[in-house]
Amino acid sequence: MSEAFDPVKILQTIDLLSNLKADALEMLGHKMSRIRVPAGQVLCGEGEVGDRLFIIESGELAVLKQAGSAGPMQVTTLGPGTLAGEMSLLGKVKRSATLKALTDCQVLVLAFDDFQAVVDAQPSLARLLLANVSRNLRRSTSVVAKLMARDYDQRFKIGFFDSKHYMADVFAERNANRFSINFHEARLAASTVALAAGCNAVCVFVNDTVDRPVIEELAEMGVGLVALRCAGFNNVDLDAAIEHGVSVTRVPAYSPYAVAEHAVALMLALNRKIHRASTRVHENNFSLDGLVGFNMHGRTVGVVGTGQIGVCAVDILLGFGCRILAYDVAANPALANRAGVTYVGLDQLFAESDIISLHAPLLPATHHMINAAAIDKMKPGVMLINTSRGALVDTAALLDGLKARKIGYAGLDVYEEESAYFFEDFSDDILTDDTLARLLTFTNVLVTSHQAFLTREALGNIAADTLASVDEFAAGKRGAELSQCVARERFAAQAKPDGGAKQG
Ligand code: NAD
Repeated sequence: MSEAFDPVKILQTIDLLSNLKADALEMLGHKMSRIRVPAGQVLCGEGEVGDRLFIIESGELAVLKQAGSAGPMQVTTLGPGTLAGEMSLLGKVKRSATLKALTDCQVLVLAFDDFQAVVDAQPSLARLLLANVSRNLRRSTSVVAKLMARDYDQRFKIGFFDSKHYMADVFAERNANRFSINFHEARLAASTVALAAGCNAVCVFVNDTVDRPVIEELAEMGVGLVALRCAGFNNVDLDAAIEHGVSVTRVPAYSPYAVAEHAVALMLALNRKIHRASTRVHENNFSLDGLVGFNMHGRTVGVVGTGQIGVCAVDILLGFGCRILAYDVAANPALANRAGVTYVGLDQLFAESDIISLHAPLLPATHHMINAAAIDKMKPGVMLINTSRGALVDTAALLDGLKARKIGYAGLDVYEEESAYFFEDFSDDILTDDTLARLLTFTNVLVTSHQAFLTREALGNIAADTLASVDEFAAGKRGAELSQCVARERFAAQAKPDGGAKQG
C-alpha cells in the first residue's frame, strides 16, 4: 500500500457509506486492504464462492455474465466509488458475475469476518447495506423486464388468428422460418386485436372480425396487411381498410375441387341416406326401410354461381349424367357452350331443379337469396346444398320449408350464425342456438362445420398463396399492387401517392 493511502477518505466518497458516523468509517477503514488489479485480470469469477466486498478506488472493471451458448457478456462497467459483492458480506455466497479489470485498478477489499465485527459495533451499517442490496435488486429487475420486452427477432411478423393445428402445421412447414408467425387460437376481434402488437401483418380466416374498429387498431399499431387465408372476404370492412391504408389479400382459388367435391358428397350422402345407414348398421340394424334414394343420372341440378367452384361442381355433375341449369350475374361463355348446361334465370332454375347448389359469394345482392319467396318457387322435395356462405340462406325460411316438406333435403356446410360454433368442440356443452338445434333434428338435413375446403391439397395451396402475398407485401407492394388484392379496383381507385400504410 502506498504512503498516501487513506481508506477513510475513500469511504467518505462512497454514497452508501456517506451517512456513517466518523468512528464507524474509521473502524471500516482499518479493516480494509487495498489491492492492485492490472488490466485484463479477473478479480473474481461467476459461480465462485466469495466472502469479500470490493470498493473500486480507481480504474474500471467489467461485470461479465454467462449468456448461454453466447458465452460471457458484459452487462455493465464499475468505476471509482462503486461497490461489488455486497451479498458476500451476508455470508459465503456464489458470485453472480465475473469482475474483470478493463484498466489498471485500485480496489479496496473488506472480508466477511471483518465486516461482521464492524456491524456488531455499528448496526446502522447493516441497514445501509440492505438498502443498497434492495436498490440493486430493483434495478436488475427492471433491466430484466426491459430485456424480456425487447424483441430480438428481426423477421417480418405475422399475427395468425383463429389458429387450428391442422392449418398452423401446414403454414409452419411452408413458411420454413422465413417469417415470424405468432399463432393465436383466439379469433381476431376488437377484444383480441392487441395480440397483433408488433406484427407487420395479420392472417385471418372466415370467422375473424375485421370490422372498422379492428382495422383502425391495426393501422394504429402499424399492421399494414390483412392476409385472408380463405376466398371470401365478407368479414372485412374494405372501406375502413382502404381509408387507413391497410392492404387486404385473400386466396381466391386454393382448391375449387375440394369445395365442389364436398358439395357433391353432401348431395350423395343425403340422396342415398349414407349418414342414416351408417348409424343403423352400427346398431346391428341391417334393414333398408326408409333408405330409398334416386339416380343422379338424368336429374336437373341448378348451380347458382358459376365461378371456379361452380364450374368444378358442374364438371362432376355432368359426369353423373345430370342436366345443369346455371345462373350467374356474369355467365361463363365456355360453360354456356357445354352440352348439358343451360344458363337460365333464377326463377326457372328454382322451378325446374331437383337439386340446387349455391356457389355465389355473400354480397348484399346474394344475402338471403334463398328466402321464403324463393323456396315457394321450388319443386316439392327439392334438395338444397350450401357450401358457399351461410347468409345466402334465410335459415328461418329454410326451417319452414323443411317442416312443410317443400324442401326434401338440405346439405349445409355453412350456416349464417356459424361463427358461434363452427370449428370448435362443444361436445361437453349444450346448444343454445335454437335454430341450429332444430336443423339438427331433421334426418334429411346434413350439417358439416365449414369443412368443404379441408383437403391436404387445399391446405397446402392456402398456406403457399397466403405466404406469397406476405412475401409481396414484405417486398414493398401495397394495395392493388398485390397479386391477390381483394376488390382491386376499389384499392386502385383509392391508392395514395405514398403507397398507404407503412410496414411498421
Ligand atoms: P368465384 O369468384 O370464382 O365465383 C363466384 C361466382 O359467383 C362468380 O362467377 C360471380 O359472377 C358469381 N356471382 C356473383 N354475384 C352473384 C349473384 N348475385 N348471383 C349469382 N352469381 C353471382 O368464387 P369461388 O371460388 O367459386 O367461390 C364461391 C364461394 O364459395 C366463395 O365466395 C366462398 O364464399 C365460398 N367458399 C366456401 C368454402 C367452404 O369451405 N365452404 C371454401 C371456399 C369458398
